[in-house]
Amino acid sequence: MKSVGLFMVYTQHFCAKCGSDQIRRNGHSQGHARYQCKACRHQARFVPAAVAKAVQYEQVDLLLGERNSQRSIVRLTGIARMTIASRIKKKQA
Ligand SMILES: [Zn+2]
Repeated sequence: MKSVGLFMVYTQHFCAKCGSDQIRRNGHSQGHARYQCKACRHQARFVPAAVAKAVQYEQVDLLLGERNSQRSIVRLTGIARMTIASRIKKKQA
């Protein structure tokens, strides 16, 4: 399964550069929280929740397109099955 590992970057606060969870908040910039990684000193913005959700939904649509079962999508993405079911309904409408 390709690119599914990316999810954790969006749903949890890991360093986008080295993947470490040793990060701390480092103020705000243009309305977005910033973080600095203690491991590699990489600085970046947290991905806003709305963007993270959109990325997840895109992934769900992709997995649905590949005829994965709802159960396996739940397992791969961590998205609630109800959410996935409602995505399917919307697509069919
Ligand atoms: Zn890092």
